[in-house]
Amino acid sequence: MYYAYKYRLKPSDAHREELDRHRDICRQLYNHTLYRLNEYQDEHDELPSMTTLRSELPDLKKWWDGLSDVYSKVLQTVVERLFDNLKGLSKLKENGYGVGQLTWKPPREFRSFTYSQSGFKLDKKGGQTVLSLSKLADIPIRLHRAIPDNAKLKQVTVKKEPTGEWFATFGVEMDREPPEPPENPEKCVGIDVGILKYAHDTDGTTVGSLDLSDERERLEREQRKLSRKQHGSNNYEKQRRRVAECHADLRRKRRDFLHKLSNYYAREYDLVAVEDLNVKGMMESPSNSRNTASAAWRTFLSLLEYKCEREGTHFVAVNPRGTTKECASCGVSTEKPLWVREHSCPACGFEADRDANAAWNILSRGLEDVGVGHSERTPVETALPAHTPVSAKRVVEAGSPTLKERTASAVSE
Ligand SMILES: [Zn+2]
Repeated sequence: MYYAYKYRLKPSDAHREELDRHRDICRQLYNHTLYRLNEYQDEHDELPSMTTLRSELPDLKKWWDGLSDVYSKVLQTVVERLFDNLKGLSKLKENGYGVGQLTWKPPREFRSFTYSQSGFKLDKKGGQTVLSLSKLADIPIRLHRAIPDNAKLKQVTVKKEPTGEWFATFGVEMDREPPEPPENPEKCVGIDVGILKYAHDTDGTTVGSLDLSDERERLEREQRKLSRKQHGSNNYEKQRRRVAECHADLRRKRRDFLHKLSNYYAREYDLVAVEDLNVKGMMESPSNSRNTASAAWRTFLSLLEYKCEREGTHFVAVNPRGTTKECASCGVSTEKPLWVREHSCPACGFEADRDANAAWNILSRGLEDVGVGHSERTPVETALPAHTPVSAKRVVEAGSPTLKERTASAVSE
């Protein structure tokens, strides 16, 4: 299993200068390799292999001052990157997309470089954890969560965000295979994702939506300021950074919330049932707010799916048809417009919150899908749990909607 761990670097001004210098040498090498690729193609009427271009690196160093300042494996990954981009391009072409050539990279578009296999390690210097990069520097790093002991660090990519911040992303391999999901899952949960509440589950936990109105307001304010600056001026550039920071802040907060919520469900339960949004999306008429919401749900579900796989938890995406209309107790369907928040069954008298009823239907479909015989098909037989409303803020702060979270061993995203 391969994971990515991302951390913020805390470079000094001197570090920043060096990072930028290395980044720019890599960028120039990328552009040079692209030039060589085209030149070779003109001469030989075919593309050179990656090995051919990589083998030119030692000769290049003879006349290119500064190239030897960069760790040699880093230079090799620059050549590999060009070939990766080339592959991506030809795949798009195969699929009938009209795409042009690979283009020369200006500084703003070349933000990262990669140490692969060697030349980097995490170290302690003067009581501070540092990322030690060969031929570059020991850069302080904020390890806000630990990399598990059984993880092998395969590579690290250092990247400068448009905000000017530097991050390090480790590619990590775990020697442990993910555990098999249990044959008889005991702790099972159905989750209904919704508009008014972010999630409502069969254990009675309802999680509110993340309130990012302050962040959004700030973004709009900074964007308005940007529109008043003269394009290309120093002030414009400064303001552009501020806008980028706002975007990054929003993105970070949203993802952080989704990571924590999905971590919680994947770790706390043996089986997690949700609605298949690919089917749901086709059934519902598109509107802008819905699209935005469903994009966030999709992210949540894809995070949830891979975390479930990692934790050995069943992940079931069920057919969403009629989950709100159907009575979770007797199965009779009744029309229910969106504003009706309560489920009250005319056939059997079962009453529940609209989303709770849907969550129960999702769970029982999920149990059927994995073929688990479940005696407690109906929520009536089990006592309905009382609602526990939880704000999204609490999920972000506590890392979970409840306090009884299992102590998780592996911490990763
Ligand atoms: Zn009923």
